[in-house]
Amino acid sequence: MSQTVLVINSGSSSIKYQLLNPKTGQVLAKGLCEQIGEPTGLIRHVAHGNTTVVTERVADHGQGLQRILDLFEKCGPKIEDAGVVAVGHRVVQGGSYFDGPAIIDQKVHATITKLCPLAPLHNPAHLKGIDVGKKLLPDVPHVAVFDTAFFHSLPEAAATYALDQTVAQEYKIRRYGAHGTSHQLVSRQVSEFLGRDDLRQIVLHLGNGSSASAVKNGRAVDTSMGLTPLEGLVMGTRTGDIDPAVVFHLARTAGMSADDVDVLFNKKSGLLGLCGDNDMRAVRGRANAGDTQARLALDIVLHRLQKYVGAYVAVLNGLDVLTFTAGIGENDGELRAELCAHLTFMGIELDEDANAVRSPEPRVISTPQSKVTVMVVPTNEELEIARQAMSLVEGR
Ligand code: AMP
Repeated sequence: MSQTVLVINSGSSSIKYQLLNPKTGQVLAKGLCEQIGEPTGLIRHVAHGNTTVVTERVADHGQGLQRILDLFEKCGPKIEDAGVVAVGHRVVQGGSYFDGPAIIDQKVHATITKLCPLAPLHNPAHLKGIDVGKKLLPDVPHVAVFDTAFFHSLPEAAATYALDQTVAQEYKIRRYGAHGTSHQLVSRQVSEFLGRDDLRQIVLHLGNGSSASAVKNGRAVDTSMGLTPLEGLVMGTRTGDIDPAVVFHLARTAGMSADDVDVLFNKKSGLLGLCGDNDMRAVRGRANAGDTQARLALDIVLHRLQKYVGAYVAVLNGLDVLTFTAGIGENDGELRAELCAHLTFMGIELDEDANAVRSPEPRVISTPQSKVTVMVVPTNEELEIARQAMSLVEGR
């Protein structure tokens, strides 16, 4: 029987899941339970090529996961026959404690709980998924895979903010990064694809949330997300980098509270705040139809990307590979071409035909003459979580 891992990504009002074989990458089932706690919940379960949709109230995460397990029983594959060797839980914030996946025992659970103030939207929601998961699937190990783990090794100079260190240490303020599972998977796939470990890489994970990382010889040496996923690139609804004095200014002149500014910066800014749309396809469509507001939003996104790439080339003292991944990075060939057109100074030469190809496989989109190899590598965080969970369980 094949061995599988059930991957759970538990959010504040949703549970996303996949049952997959980490060795082959085959997905046996996947789905999403949404609107937990609201009058009507929605569960979508995909297995054996069929999609089953259930709309009914889901009171809490416990009920949500129970319904999901009922759907496995009814629509397949049956969990007890699926060879599940571990449950892998995505956890956004692992603080300074975790440099890799961890089996969730009492101590690990307590540490994830202790880290809730650093990820108030995410870690409490993950804990709900972990608690109900352990209750409903008690016979397999549950493994936490942290978004921050890949950035645990950041050099102190990159991870430390120039803040009074008494305050920084007391409140654990430093650069933790995020999207680490994706940056780790993608940079490793680039190494495997090119058959080289000694690479200076920049990975651009461009999705609704976006982040950049600088990776040297397989180790992350800088990343754009910071204490939280707010810092760095312009995103769907987040500001990315902004002068922190904007916070004091808004507090003093607009009477905004910390929560007001939190919502403004995280939910109402980025592409949405700049032009009214947060979906890149809509922004791109409007810009191509001559909408100047959408075009300016794209130019601001590109300008920030250009600055980060330039900075990371300096951090890495050169560059071998620039890689695009995630929804925008994998699909928006125009954005890749626009960014690379700004990077010709370092000898980047894009192959227009290769850039136009759509494929689920890792691919090179630069010309053979290009001084830097430019790649598109599809990310797959669930598969990476499953692989990490399985290798931890196998190595016990
Ligand atoms: P993710 O968070 O990785 O799922 O990425 C979501 C983002 O990818 C959204 O902004 C989508 O608009 C964007 N996206 C998906 N497909 C395309 C596409 N064909 N062209 C441009 N953007 C896309």
